[in-house]
Amino acid sequence: MRRKIAAGNWKMNGTAAALNELETLAQMMPEAAPEVVICPPAPLLFRAVDAAPEGIAIGAQDCHMQAKGAFTGDISAEMIADTGAGFVIVGHSERRDAHEETNSDIRAKTRCAWGSGLTAIVCIGESGDDRAANNTLDIIGGQLAGSLPDGADGANTVIAYEPIWAIGTGKVPTLEQIIEVHDFIRARLITRFGAEIGDAIALLYGGSVKPDNAEVIFRAENVDGALVGGASLKAADFAPIIAAL
Ligand code: PGA
Repeated sequence: MRRKIAAGNWKMNGTAAALNELETLAQMMPEAAPEVVICPPAPLLFRAVDAAPEGIAIGAQDCHMQAKGAFTGDISAEMIADTGAGFVIVGHSERRDAHEETNSDIRAKTRCAWGSGLTAIVCIGESGDDRAANNTLDIIGGQLAGSLPDGADGANTVIAYEPIWAIGTGKVPTLEQIIEVHDFIRARLITRFGAEIGDAIALLYGGSVKPDNAEVIFRAENVDGALVGGASLKAADFAPIIAAL
């Protein structure tokens, strides 16, 4: 049985007052909820861990690719683990783009995450141009191979497929497109890591997941959950997505 995960990426939104949503969310969550992870901005991590009711785990949105050193303004995986957080998103397309992160950077970040006992949520996804040019699976295959170190397994790694053109746009791929990419990722994982490990790694879909489209997206056999941006900020939006999983 693969883990099922609903992860919320708050991006650069919210101050301490936003942490009140955690309690509200816990009250709205179904009893047999999947794993729920909230990734608030880094300055909120300590408080978020304290404020999180049972059933809600906390994650960070990025970590540095080295363990420590002269990197002003950066945050190490060890610091994240020290807050009590259990997850870290790496390779989000907004970081690949605005911070010019490469697959090899993300591979190094993933190793750092593992080294501190964090589960890495490794993000991959094609641009609108890639899709229009029919390059989606090539891009996804390359990002997956390049961003994921040897040693990935179902406990230390979650993959999030997030088409860049679907993030924050309200555009969502068709169910067929989602199935095609998720099945492809699953096949690649099995080829690389063997059937047992390849089958155990959870695959999340991300990009404009909302209460009204989650149920359809979750029909795909190889969609084990979602990485949710905008609709994770309010418990009233995120709770129905969790319930659909
Ligand atoms: P969105 O963001 O749900 O607001 O599209 C998803 C993400 O960037 O992780």
